[in-house]
Amino acid sequence: MPLVSMRQLLDEAAKGGYGVGAFNVNNMEQIQSIMEAARETQSPVIIQASRGARAYSQDRFLYHLMLAATELYPEIPTVLHLDHGNSPETCQSAIDMGFTSVMMDGSLMPDGKTPSSFEYNVEATRKVVEAAHAKGVTVEGEIGCLGGIEDGHGAGGDGLSHLTDPDQAVEFVKATGVDALAIAIGTSHGAYKFTSKPTGETLKMETLIAIHKRLPTTHLVMHGSSSVPKELQDIINQFGGKLKPTWGVPVEEIQLGIRNGVRKINVDTDNRLAITGAIRKVFMEKPEEFDPRSYMKPAREAMKKVVAQRMTQFGQAGHAKDYAPIPLTEMVKRYQSETVAV
Ligand SMILES: [Zn+2]
Repeated sequence: MPLVSMRQLLDEAAKGGYGVGAFNVNNMEQIQSIMEAARETQSPVIIQASRGARAYSQDRFLYHLMLAATELYPEIPTVLHLDHGNSPETCQSAIDMGFTSVMMDGSLMPDGKTPSSFEYNVEATRKVVEAAHAKGVTVEGEIGCLGGIEDGHGAGGDGLSHLTDPDQAVEFVKATGVDALAIAIGTSHGAYKFTSKPTGETLKMETLIAIHKRLPTTHLVMHGSSSVPKELQDIINQFGGKLKPTWGVPVEEIQLGIRNGVRKINVDTDNRLAITGAIRKVFMEKPEEFDPRSYMKPAREAMKKVVAQRMTQFGQAGHAKDYAPIPLTEMVKRYQSETVAV
């Protein structure tokens, strides 16, 4: 089946009461890990690429690898999503390339670092919604700023400096017509999210619940939501790595989010940790190896294991065959006739 719109996946997830993991990719092996995990668990998938990933893979390589994924896994509904578009121009380039979903992160200025004004965010996001919906492409917006910096993108800090205000979230969704909304509740990008297991003081689940109460039909997105499990940190450190102790977002908090309107959960760090741990293990245990396949294969397997586990924990497992894909041309008509809530 062709790449599908993210809106359809999230609408189905809302009906079924589950969440869908959105996993970042930069290369062939990561795409293969996700697709194998999806087949094993019978899950719909969201694969996302950041600006950094598009630059690293030269964009068209990535796009054609994604087409290969749809040919080889025709039974899996698959979305190709742009993670943290920094400007309407970046989002347009992704739409032109064939992405079926884009994130316009207008919470930051186009430099990807400076927090923007509410007015700027509304204006930039509205512009992207107009262009994207005309092609049947889904739009995710963000209100409030995440902590941390990844791929050169982020406001920095600990995630508590720019939390989402629930009233402003309502105003933002009404003014822009976004399909999905990323909110800031204390999470950060990267491996170092929390210095101890998060509590209600550092991870504001009550803010998320308050937003869901005001926006019960809006698909919420949790960014920076790797769990950073100790086992994955330990493998890296056991084989010569030097990670400092760190904590991520516990899976049970994500599941609480899913019960309160979270439909998309962004996970990248856990996969990075799994890949690096597997490669380090081969390098330490078999220093005579020099065939890249000898360490890329176990790396791919390690990432697949983490992705399959998350798919099961988020509840998307078993839902790949629940629905027939809606073509983007049909999504255009639905947006025009407003049979899709905007
Ligand atoms: Zn993010």
